[in-house]
Amino acid sequence: MRWSLHLGRIAGIDVKVHFTFFLLLAFYGFMFAGQGGLPAAVHGIIFISLVFLCVLLHEFGHAMAARRYGIHTPDITLLPIGGVARLERIPEKPSEEIVVALAGPLVNVAICAVLFPFIQDNFHPGVLERFEPGLLLKLFGANVMLVVFNLIPAFPMDGGRVFRALLAMRMDFAKATRIAATIGQALACAGGMFALLHGIPVLALVAVFIFLAAQNEAAHAQMRAASAGLRVRDAMILRFEALPRTATLHRAVEAVLHSAQRDFPVVDEAGALCGVLTRDDLVGALRKNAADTPVAEIMRLDVPVVHDAMFLDRAFTLMQEAETSALPVVDGSGRLCGLFTHENVGELMMIQTALRGGPRSPARPPPLPARV
Ligand SMILES: [Zn+2]
Repeated sequence: MRWSLHLGRIAGIDVKVHFTFFLLLAFYGFMFAGQGGLPAAVHGIIFISLVFLCVLLHEFGHAMAARRYGIHTPDITLLPIGGVARLERIPEKPSEEIVVALAGPLVNVAICAVLFPFIQDNFHPGVLERFEPGLLLKLFGANVMLVVFNLIPAFPMDGGRVFRALLAMRMDFAKATRIAATIGQALACAGGMFALLHGIPVLALVAVFIFLAAQNEAAHAQMRAASAGLRVRDAMILRFEALPRTATLHRAVEAVLHSAQRDFPVVDEAGALCGVLTRDDLVGALRKNAADTPVAEIMRLDVPVVHDAMFLDRAFTLMQEAETSALPVVDGSGRLCGLFTHENVGELMMIQTALRGGPRSPARPPPLPARV
């Protein structure tokens, strides 16, 4: 996610904080300071930070459960509206999805269980006297709220995922997602209205997030259904131009303007693949570089190369992970034989869905599934 600060790597997962999160801390700091001066501000910021630590542990609950099923989580990002764990894919079986969805709230149940002895009236240990007892009580309350809120069946929140998985046991996955997403969006609208009427801006933001995330996930499920059984070779571009690594940016601009192609593989003298130049990278580079700069200095080197026999949804996931709009395709002998682009996937989805008589598909394929 852009505008995120990388805090560190825990258990192979990048932990990030979106910069707007610091705005939230500053907002609460000023609000509490207005109520009770500096001590109140410090107390308030400590409390908010502890709540978000619990949110982070909640996300790790999802990530660790997903790891049991061989699903990697590249990163977890904290936002003012909560945490988002990006899973590389959705669990295959509904029963696995239920375990992964419930693992998050279960972490908060465990935190409540740990806090419970400390908040009982008859408990006054010396070590804790330095803390304000109200802080632990409030933290307990926040975790109860996190459990209750996440279990609301508003897809793609945890409760909604359990609901989708239960539906998917009885019908196909795309249909189950469509139903769960529609209900999720209806609940998000109701929650958004409630938030606006009662002046709760954070809840209104959460509602908007849920609404859009439900839409994205429904599109993702639809893509999976539309591309089932298809390989990269079924959708890749066969007629494409490759740029030599010595070509200049000026030459690349001409290639973009005089063809419908947006992204270009870059090859060496022997025709072997060296990298990929996307149109967006080219436009960005023109602002900072002279027109005679070789494309070899601008091209992406970290783009994964996909095999023409690879399943299409797997290649699409690789494309999303690499945050690029085009992947070079090689055949069995390692020769560059095609170009697999984001635009292609969109077109393929529209055609496949029309052929199968399904609903109109989105023009743009969706981003990676996120877990709240
Ligand atoms: Zn969750």
